[in-house]
Amino acid sequence: NRRWLLARRPEGLPDAGCFALDTQPVPAPGPGQILVRARFLSVDPYMRGRMSRTAGYAPGVGLGEVMRGGGVGEVVASNHPAWAPGDIAESMAFGWQEYAVLSPDRPGTDGVHRVDPALAPIESALSWLGMPGMTAYFGLLDVGRPRPGDTVVVSAASGAVGQLVGQIARLSGCRAVAIAGSARKLDWCREIGFDAGIDHRTADLRAALKETCPDGVDVFFDNTSGPIHDAVMRRLSIGARVVLCGRVALAARHEAVETGERHLGRLIATRASLTGFLVYDWWHRRDEALARLAAWHRAGQLKYREDVLDGIARMPEAFLRLLTGENFGKQLVRVV
Ligand code: NDP
Repeated sequence: NRRWLLARRPEGLPDAGCFALDTQPVPAPGPGQILVRARFLSVDPYMRGRMSRTAGYAPGVGLGEVMRGGGVGEVVASNHPAWAPGDIAESMAFGWQEYAVLSPDRPGTDGVHRVDPALAPIESALSWLGMPGMTAYFGLLDVGRPRPGDTVVVSAASGAVGQLVGQIARLSGCRAVAIAGSARKLDWCREIGFDAGIDHRTADLRAALKETCPDGVDVFFDNTSGPIHDAVMRRLSIGARVVLCGRVALAARHEAVETGERHLGRLIATRASLTGFLVYDWWHRRDEALARLAAWHRAGQLKYREDVLDGIARMPEAFLRLLTGENFGKQLVRVV
């Protein structure tokens, strides 16, 4: 069983030396457990937080422990009455490893979900039919509360979450404005329905936002924090909703993020609300989100782009791509 351990805590941006590949015998499942062989593993920006000692919303990974992460694969041994070899299982508690022992009866976000290979390719359970899909669905619809005619601005717009937020905004009758890091990514965003796009690496953000959002920003789905956040906050309309979803732009200075007060005045002037959002709070409505996403997909109303690297040896590389913007779509690693 090849597995990636956290070898060193990063100072600033992580590098490949933070991870160490380790090989162990394939573990055996205990009572009530299943052994699953990974087909696809996920890398996600939240893993940067887990590499730090300081607990954010969840405890960090210990040094020498397997990196945390979601995976989908095939059951190869089962001591659980509801699971048999050949079944396909997905879990956020998989870890960066080829084989995982999982406990199907564990509740909540570390639980195990059955994946129907007839519904969609099984890796979808890590992307649009899984955690990133739920993030876009609940973050936009329940926290952002879009109304027809609203202007919705999305950062990291071509990414795992962002590409869905834009399309769900359009399905909700909104105008969607993409902020992304290259012309290629913005072309894709237009192709899937975003009305306008801004390249945050080349544009004058404030001028571009003024041009693309002449009546202000009604919903800001903030995936990055940092300079993009600062620029969009200046253009909030009266009663705007800001969904604080992620801060991937701060990955290089994760341990030393300043909490600025500079936008609090904007919140008073616009009577806007700024809400921290965590997808794990919405797990009880998982079935609803996935059924709706699947229905939109079947109707041809959702397109989705994944970015797949081959081989478990490439896990650190895949993860680091998220922090530099090299990934184009949901970053996955195909294990077998
Ligand atoms: P993405 O697929 O969007 O990949 C990350 C993207 O972030 C990169 O492709 C890059 O896109 C962008 N990025 C990286 N560095 C910077 C930077 N310095 N400035 C601006 N943009 C940058 O990842 P996800 O869709 O999986 O995640 C998006 C965000 O959502 C993350 O912040 C993540 O932590 C958060 N999230 C939050 C959840 C919650 O419950 N609150 C749940 C899931 C995700 P580009 O080239 O376009 O700049």
